[in-house]
Amino acid sequence: MKFALVNNERCEPTPKTRGICPVCNGVVIAKCGKLKAHHWAHESKQDCRNDRWETEGEWHRNWKNKFPIECQEKIILANEVKNIADVQTNKGLVIEFQHSHMDSEEQRARENAYKNMIWVVDGTRLKYDFPRFKKNVRDNSRLFLEIRKNVKLFSVDFCDEVFPKNWINCSVPVVFDFLGLEDEEKADVFQKYLYLLLPKQKSNDFSAFMLYLPRTMFIPLINNEWELFYPKLVSSIIDIQKAKKESIPQPVVYFPKRRFRRRF
Ligand SMILES: [Zn+2]
Repeated sequence: MKFALVNNERCEPTPKTRGICPVCNGVVIAKCGKLKAHHWAHESKQDCRNDRWETEGEWHRNWKNKFPIECQEKIILANEVKNIADVQTNKGLVIEFQHSHMDSEEQRARENAYKNMIWVVDGTRLKYDFPRFKKNVRDNSRLFLEIRKNVKLFSVDFCDEVFPKNWINCSVPVVFDFLGLEDEEKADVFQKYLYLLLPKQKSNDFSAFMLYLPRTMFIPLINNEWELFYPKLVSSIIDIQKAKKESIPQPVVYFPKRRFRRRF
């Protein structure tokens, strides 16, 4: 973990200090070595939900640090259990960054605990996920709605052929980052974007919607617009689908802040 309580204040680790874990109140020791990012570790092995933060890697840290310090490692009480969310924005959205494998039970538990959340997943952990994505995404996607320049919504058929399989049935949006730890300046055209997979409308659907957005737009979108943007996105999909089904003219979709029109 990056923050522990020292004299009742949230502090980052400094050499040879001790603190208190904000979740279990156990003693934690500052680990300020050269190999791993400085962090706090529990003094004695114990069953604490905050333990997983001890092993967070550089990718995870980099993402977390894109948000203000006061939004990082937020304690959230759900069903009388204290959880630590990687990030919670001032408006209440939780963002969890996931590099390592996670089983579906733990996934669901966190989605149920936070509800208003999104996952950001390291798409570079497994060797074949990114090549597979590149190979299949174009064939399987159709433009559904152009939201603004470079922000487009696609419908994706057979999304299990496109995205890592254990992330396609989440009940909250999942963002795939295929850049990983590579240098942003060397990013290829696919890596310049993030791919936000919306929850499927029905759990047995093979298709889903994917928002394609430039990396640079993600943080401003999350921090400033998400609470208006996301419900509007979901309701627009439903309105357009309904119009298509009834063969009536498709609605012009207005998004908050700027006006957007369907291209076709
Ligand atoms: Zn603890």
